[in-house]
Amino acid sequence: VLMNSVQAAPTILAVANQKGGVAKTTSVASIGAALAERGQRVLLVDLDPQACLTFSLGIDPEDLELSVHHVLTKGTAVDEVILGTEDGVDLLPATIELARAEADLLTRTGREHVLRGVLEDLQAGGRSYDWVLLDCPPSLGVLTVAALTAATGVLIPLQCETLSHRGVGQLLDTVHDVRRFTNRDLAVWGVLPTLYDGRTNHARAVLDTIAETYDLEVVEPPIPKTIKFAEAPAAGRSILATSRSSKGAEAYREVAGALLARSAR
Ligand code: ADP
Ligand code: MG
Repeated sequence: VLMNSVQAAPTILAVANQKGGVAKTTSVASIGAALAERGQRVLLVDLDPQACLTFSLGIDPEDLELSVHHVLTKGTAVDEVILGTEDGVDLLPATIELARAEADLLTRTGREHVLRGVLEDLQAGGRSYDWVLLDCPPSLGVLTVAALTAATGVLIPLQCETLSHRGVGQLLDTVHDVRRFTNRDLAVWGVLPTLYDGRTNHARAVLDTIAETYDLEVVEPPIPKTIKFAEAPAAGRSILATSRSSKGAEAYREVAGALLARSAR
């Protein structure tokens, strides 16, 4: 039975790993563009004070008067802050001011729920998305916990190197705490191998060890390491636009397909 009048809640995916440089931001931009290519309505949320996601979508954070910081700490209506982008996704942008949000929120009751509330208001206000992708900062602080509290699932980009292990356990401890205290429905969607060098057996061995040690699903295919990714942010578009049929773009399209299938299950 079709119920057109009922707006389904969006799938909210937190892309998290407290390690920097593992392609969280690249994955959010690329998966977002791939979902938009398939006709999905997508909102990306930049939760990193470095504002790399905002910048990579062609928006200079310095030109912005309002950003996610105002929404989270000053009660600014989220509608006033969301921007459209050439990639076909909407963006809730960040600026360096977000660095203060961590401290501003620390003394607030209910801080873990602040983003969840914002996204619920958005839905209730009639602006509806099929997907909301949360680009987490490289820490396990207030903003990451707020993202995990708002999320349906968490996707963990992982560069398959010998030492990439250690952070995963800490991140999963945080996920357990979030499940216990603020979001019992949070699901771990798995690890996404990034910056993947398929020419060596090493990467596959590390990936298998991590998946087995922590009992994690691996979201396939791995995203190959390619120089094309370096060019995309400066163009203000994701690699899906700057390098349409590259292996990296195709890999992200396949991953988006896998995530769509996962969300339907
Ligand atoms: P994070 O958000 O986890 O800090 P980024 O997405 O900013 O990571 O990526 C870190 C750097 O790696 C960026 O310079 C980005 O362009 C580059 N990068 C990301 N994915 C790839 C890839 N598959 N191949 C090569 N370089 C990549
Ligand atoms: Mg980032």
